[in-house]
Amino acid sequence: MAFTVKEASDRILSGIRSLSTETVALRDALGRVLAEDVRSPIEHPPWDNSSMDGYAVRAADVAAASEATPVILPVLETVRAGQRPTRSLSSGEAIRIMTGAPVPNGADTVIRVEDTDAGETRVSIHDARDALRNVRPRGEDLRVGDLVLAHGHTLGPAQIGVLASVGHARVVVHRRPRVALLASGDELVDVDQFPAVLRGDRIVSSNTYTLGASIRGAGAEVVELGIVPDDPAAYKERLTDARGCDLLITSGGVSVGAFDFTKEVLQSLGAQLHLWRVLMRPGAPLGFGMLGDMPWLGLPGNPVSAMVTFELFARPLIRTQRGERDVFRRTIEVRAGEDFTIGAPLTHFLRAIVDWTADGPQATLTGPQGSGLLTSMSRANALVIVPPERPVVRAGEAVRALMLGEAALASNVFDV
Ligand code: AMP
Ligand code: MG
Repeated sequence: MAFTVKEASDRILSGIRSLSTETVALRDALGRVLAEDVRSPIEHPPWDNSSMDGYAVRAADVAAASEATPVILPVLETVRAGQRPTRSLSSGEAIRIMTGAPVPNGADTVIRVEDTDAGETRVSIHDARDALRNVRPRGEDLRVGDLVLAHGHTLGPAQIGVLASVGHARVVVHRRPRVALLASGDELVDVDQFPAVLRGDRIVSSNTYTLGASIRGAGAEVVELGIVPDDPAAYKERLTDARGCDLLITSGGVSVGAFDFTKEVLQSLGAQLHLWRVLMRPGAPLGFGMLGDMPWLGLPGNPVSAMVTFELFARPLIRTQRGERDVFRRTIEVRAGEDFTIGAPLTHFLRAIVDWTADGPQATLTGPQGSGLLTSMSRANALVIVPPERPVVRAGEAVRALMLGEAALASNVFDV
């Protein structure tokens, strides 16, 4: 039975849960997904502090200051960041203060040094614009008990910095999935066997590389099971190395060829098959099932099909296991830069280059769309999605595109 792309996605993701948790050092937490709610044990900032280098004063004392009539005040002391004031401030006094230093009791204002003569024992203030300004109150950013970060947040630089500032040196995150990757095909060798390729006997198992990199790129670890020939016994034997993994991804052998054994082998191991064929191109032969409690995704062997089905189904699965909330790539509306014609009533994913033109994003195809043309994938930054009910998309019409990775948003223009 064949499923639409959406049905396939729903089916695949319906039983997938986030993995168990582990504690890691904050420094190692980049890209991991928080599995705890973190509350602040402190007020931050911990004291009323100055946001300027200048002079702590009372606003009332400086309200009349101007170039023509500067206010002159005695300077009681200098407080650097990391020090505390030893004096409190009374009317008619100033304390020299640096950015981040605690504002002395009695002061409600810091006059920036640029509006003074920078005096060390006496200061002349010639502008009142900072009256009642430049004091950052204690607890302005966080109060004791505030929720700093909720579980489910992906930890980027800002989140990690916030956790550091509240002393959260070790952080509970979801485990990173361990993904077993197996390629099958009598014709395949690894790159170290390239002489066989030069002889004309073999091709490199590029899927081992594209899928391995895609797995890592999705934030999981790869457990490489290598390449097996089209031989059920060898296949079965190699799968024992997948034990303990969180996901098994196979490539090849899921089609209807005489030597496509993947499904048979998985079933002989007791796998429950939930999916077989999706109404899409490339990528129609796609298997999904459960081998015990390990999900299995059987991707097609064709290099482009393997990558496209990884993007659509494997990546969201891995991200679900990682505990991510937003597991899908965003699609955007683009303008077709040429006519797109599809040949069969299936959802097509066309390799395309989306350029940001003056009229917005515009998609042109990378060239011929055969599912074996891996170079088309290497040039693409997006997959244009053409639904089955729309056999032709005319140049200029709107169509949706799934953006592939950060490269899709990179630019060689500084347009800030
Ligand atoms: P299959 O899905 O096994 O029928 O393979 C379909 C096509 O993909 C065939 O042309 C294979 O040679 C090719 N192919 C299968 N596995 C790989 C792989 N790991 N790397 C590159 N090409 C592959
Ligand atoms: Mg094959």
